[in-house]
Amino acid sequence: MRRRVVILVAASAVFATTLLVATVGGAPRSARSSRPAYLLNDSHVHLTNYIQEGIDARQLLAVMDDKVGRAVLFGIPLQQTWSYRMSGENAPTYYLESDADLYYYSFTDANIALAYRSLPKELQARFDPMITGFNPADMYAADHVRRVLELFPDTFVGIGEFSLHKEFVTAKIAGEAPSIEDPALDRLLRFAGEVGLVALVHCDIDTPFPQAGADPAYLDPMHDLFLRHPDTTFIWAHIGLGRVVRPIASQTKYIEALLDNPKLRNVHFDISWSETAKYLVSSPAAVDIVANMIERHPDRFLFGTDEVAPRTQADYLRVYDQYKPLWDKLSPDVAAKVKQGNYARIFDEARRKVHAWQEQNRVRRQILGVRTK
Ligand SMILES: [Zn+2]
Repeated sequence: MRRRVVILVAASAVFATTLLVATVGGAPRSARSSRPAYLLNDSHVHLTNYIQEGIDARQLLAVMDDKVGRAVLFGIPLQQTWSYRMSGENAPTYYLESDADLYYYSFTDANIALAYRSLPKELQARFDPMITGFNPADMYAADHVRRVLELFPDTFVGIGEFSLHKEFVTAKIAGEAPSIEDPALDRLLRFAGEVGLVALVHCDIDTPFPQAGADPAYLDPMHDLFLRHPDTTFIWAHIGLGRVVRPIASQTKYIEALLDNPKLRNVHFDISWSETAKYLVSSPAAVDIVANMIERHPDRFLFGTDEVAPRTQADYLRVYDQYKPLWDKLSPDVAAKVKQGNYARIFDEARRKVHAWQEQNRVRRQILGVRTK
């Protein structure tokens, strides 16, 4: 097998020192001395699972406690159908437990908005809610997002995590599977760019069982997608890795080619998920390669847990702990950016832009005589 866990290619240790002098920015400890010095912000965590069950925002706050300053707020938009015909009284709770379809459960957006709005302002400030209940293969997806923004103003700052290609998940979606080339996706992402919404996208970089020697199936299409949407801020979840999608040969080389492209400054990567961490810290050599890549592009990576409805802080922080070899390897400034600073910069900017768009939209709707809330 030519595919191996992070192939040791071009492990240049030359640091981009000019990038290192950039400020961290947004770390909670710098804001007010009375606030706790949090360890991290979480750019990727799910409040609920594939049957819309999990914890509420206050339970998430309880496990964030004094360790996690801010976190995104979203569930999982895909709902596993409980088909009595297929599984009788055995209610599936995970997508691999049934052959029945997954479908987009749009009510999740109302759920998230109400959870956020039930909190006092100082607790809302710890969350960045995301819209997920749309079908990216539907030309009307952008209209759903607009409707959610109008119904719940000053709440959401992004869209996602939504999936384009994910091992066995996207093939199970009722109706058409998403496609990177779909004009519906372009319409959605154009709208996200216009509003200033962050787009957190899951797309495996390759198919689950690729042919040896073939190029990764989704790298070039994703590259082209990013190029088509220069005004949209992207976070590519898990650096394109997944449960059965292992790092492709020279993965860091491919990712660095994206990072080095001045036309793709809008693209960031999260290193969330225990599966991703498993590969990135699989050996001291792998840690070296990953740390060097991050040091050369310190503003482009975000930490996330990808936990689903964590109920204890130990569970919640297990991926953070898994990354200890990486935290130890990164210089303190760069580690602080990956853990907190990049999150604060990206989501604060999104909140500012979305707020400005909503103000403009409100005025536009008043002029048009549309009743506003
Ligand atoms: Zn994901």
